[in-house]
Amino acid sequence: MAAFTCAKCYRRFTPTPEALQAALVAAQGQKHALVMCPHCGKGNKTALERIKQALRFSPQPAAAEPDHVGEMTGSEPEKETNP
Ligand SMILES: [Zn+2]
Repeated sequence: MAAFTCAKCYRRFTPTPEALQAALVAAQGQKHALVMCPHCGKGNKTALERIKQALRFSPQPAAAEPDHVGEMTGSEPEKETNP
């Protein structure tokens, strides 16, 4: 679990992978990103490395994962196109 502690209200929270991704995107070219605290709604300045680390430990949403392409070969149903 990747838990953050809010610097404003000192409560712990675990941002969703979506929120982390959004923070990363919003921080393009910078070293820190703002991760919103769900308790007080304030942004927490967080190093990008920390966010990437947290993303690695977060369950990934069912998005495109190129690594998994090709794992489903072997048992294809009949694919003949005979009339
Ligand atoms: Zn807070």
